[in-house]
Amino acid sequence: MPTQAKAYGSASPNSKLAPLQITRRDPGPTDVEMEILFCGVCHSDVHTARGEWPGTNYACVPGHEIIGRVTRVGAKVTKFEVGDIGATGCMVDSCRTCPSCRKGLEQFCASGAIFTYNSPDRHLGGHTFGGYSSGITVDEAFTLLVPAGLDLAATAPLLCAGITTYSPMRHWKIGPGSKVGIVGLGGLGHMGVKFARAFGAHVVLFTTSPSKVADGLRLGAHEVVVSSDPAAMAARAGSLDFILDCVSAQHDLNAYLSLLKVDGTLCLVGVPEQPLAVHAFSVIMPRRNFTGSCIGGIAETQEMLDFCGKHGIVSDIELIPMQKINEAWDRMIRQDVRYRFVIDMASLRQR
Ligand code: NAP
Ligand code: ZN
Ligand code: ZN
Repeated sequence: MPTQAKAYGSASPNSKLAPLQITRRDPGPTDVEMEILFCGVCHSDVHTARGEWPGTNYACVPGHEIIGRVTRVGAKVTKFEVGDIGATGCMVDSCRTCPSCRKGLEQFCASGAIFTYNSPDRHLGGHTFGGYSSGITVDEAFTLLVPAGLDLAATAPLLCAGITTYSPMRHWKIGPGSKVGIVGLGGLGHMGVKFARAFGAHVVLFTTSPSKVADGLRLGAHEVVVSSDPAAMAARAGSLDFILDCVSAQHDLNAYLSLLKVDGTLCLVGVPEQPLAVHAFSVIMPRRNFTGSCIGGIAETQEMLDFCGKHGIVSDIELIPMQKINEAWDRMIRQDVRYRFVIDMASLRQR
């Protein structure tokens, strides 16, 4: 018998998030059922629930930065026992046999990765529901182990903001000697600063918010540039090897491409609603690379969590009760997040 879970979701692009009931499947042989303890609040939750990207199914229950306590396990589960702490990020399944899946790039699965929310639900029909809920059932292959010693609420954002910034910097081999720019100090950007610093790079943060300069330095940037300052931008022209663009809204990419050296790379991870214009001169003169990256595979997500356990890296968070989610979204859209909201799911169970 599937179980009922309490959740928050939106009924249409224009509606606020409100309480609703969802169905979760009983654990199959390889499934792990978790009571959700904490769920991070990603800007993708807003883009999806508000229909800013194509293809949202309603009711939409967002949330893909999930930390939970295991409540039941299927007979074949080997990684977890009841009572253990587990985590789930942006994906809950994939075909597991296509070339991308075999390379550990499940996010690029040829049949389409099953994302934690807004993907087809192969078990119950309909679409998947995310972590703004009291519980979830996930195949153990898509469930992560949380290293001991990390604050659990502050670990939740690693499941999306963490892997989305860790993966491209590993792929483009950021390390000692690299000069790295991080654009936008929000959830992704602040993790980008922490990882770039931990990998040994020289880190330059670009922000539109003068009030974030001191935090940028505290979080690990060597230099912070307020992007509305033309002299400060001009002084960095042609100086960077790699830029990670974590901005959620329209902005001028050409201003950042011009900061790259010859053969430098600008990698988009932010996904604004509308297309961004790239001028040909920004990439031909001199030769530069313009690319993007999407979260990270399951094995790399575990590697990132283990790296964070070893180096004591977590997110800087503001813990909120579920009932404050609409306020938190408004603040995140106003660039007033320091630097990730995390929902304390105990607030949902007490309702
Ligand atoms: P966030 O916490 O809201 O951070 C976005 C930051 O962008 C803001 O804090 C702000 O930084 C900057 N910004 C916002 N509006 C701006 C504007 N109009 N002009 C210039 N800068 C602006 O969002 P997030 O959760 O980090 O997500 C960032 C983006 O990445 C979203 O589009 C999200 O959907 C996407 N995302 C992509 C992936 C992936 O796999 N590629 C994964 C997760 C999220 P400053 O105040 O410092 O300027
Ligand atoms: Zn996300
Ligand atoms: Zn596949």
